[in-house]
Formats: sequence, structure tokens, C-alpha cells
Amino acid sequence: PAMQRMEANVLVLGADRVGKSALTVRFLTRRFIGEYGDTKSIYSHSLAVEGREILFHIWDFSYSQDGADESSAEEKRVQWADGFILVYSICDRASFNILHPKVQFIKAAKEATSQEKVPIVIVGNKRDLHHQRVVSSEEGRLLALSVDCGFYEVSAAEAYHGSLMVFQGLAERFCEAKLAP
Ligand code: GDP
Ligand code: MG
Repeated sequence: PAMQRMEANVLVLGADRVGKSALTVRFLTRRFIGEYGDTKSIYSHSLAVEGREILFHIWDFSYSQDGADESSAEEKRVQWADGFILVYSICDRASFNILHPKVQFIKAAKEATSQEKVPIVIVGNKRDLHHQRVVSSEEGRLLALSVDCGFYEVSAAEAYHGSLMVFQGLAERFCEAKLAP
């Protein structure tokens, strides 16, 4: 049978310097560069999962590129996206704390216009920096559980594998959302 194709817009969100670009570029190129400029581009990359091909359009959003941001601009980005990758750093407590309200904002915005469960994956990045860890794996897992999101702890610096898991996990959530009655 012909492979089923899907397309999905993905917004990568999180505090500054948590590794949003590192994670995105890892997925796109399998490489870790170290420093990433701000980009306004949306990158497309496909992934085969569960017999389907999913073409992601990935927006690695940086708040620093636009300075102070309007909540209406955030609302527009959220409406553009079909799925979300919310990144924090395990070394940065504040970056973790902003995610719960972020998930609630996204769910409120998306579920007002759609019946489908919105695919969201939470990512604790910089797992390699274990001496600087301030957010435990358990806290990350519990947050994800409490808001019904996927969860991964990864190191974009150390390996490609983690970023692949994140995008595969998101792809599986897309498939689930489409299959649900
Ligand atoms: P963004 O602002 O969220 O896009 O963050 P960047 O991707 O630009 O990364 C911010 C800084 O953290 C850069 O210096 C990266 O090299 C570094 N970084 C990103 N991911 C990791 C990681 O997994 N481990 C370590 N040790 N550093 C990382
Ligand atoms: Mg960036």
C-alpha cells in the first residue's frame, strides 16, 4: 500500500539558551554546532513513523529575535502550529517553571478551535551537564504526566538519538490525535 503522508507545523518553544536551536539543528542535520544565530526560517524535514511519512515544518522560535513580544503574536504562533516541543534546561529552574503555564496557554488556545488533543512533547535538555542539574528527572516526568504530554530528557550536545526520539514521540502523538474518535 502507498505510504500515508501527513504534514504538521511544529513550534519549538522555551526560555532563551535552553537548546531549542541545538535540538532542532540536531534533528535536521544530525550535527551539533555549538552556537546558533537567531533564525526566522521555518525548516522542513520528514520522518517515517508507524508506516506513515510525516513532513514537519519546524519553527525554532526565539523571543530574543523580536525583543518584547505581544501576547497576540504568541497567540498567532500557537494557532499556526499543529504540535509543540517545549524545551527547558535541567540546569535552569526558571526555564522549567515557565512550562506549566505555557502548556495551559497552548491547550486553552488550541482546544477552543479543535476537538483533537494537541500533540505536545516536553524536553529536558542538557542532560550531559549532570553536575549542574537543578531539575530532577522525576519533576520533569511528573509535569509531563500532569498535563498529559510526552517527556524526554536529552542532550542535544552529546547525541543525535535524543532529538530523534523527541520528533518521533511528537509524530506518534500526531498519529494518535488523528486516529482518536
Ligand atoms: P536556544 O536559545 O534555546 O536556541 O539555545 P541554543 O540552542 O542556542 O543553545 C544555547 C547554548 O547551550 C549554546 O551554547 C549551546 O551550545 C548550549 N547547549 C545546547 N544544548 C546543549 C546540551 O545538550 N548540552 C550542553 N552542555 N550545552 C548545550
Ligand atoms: Mg535559538
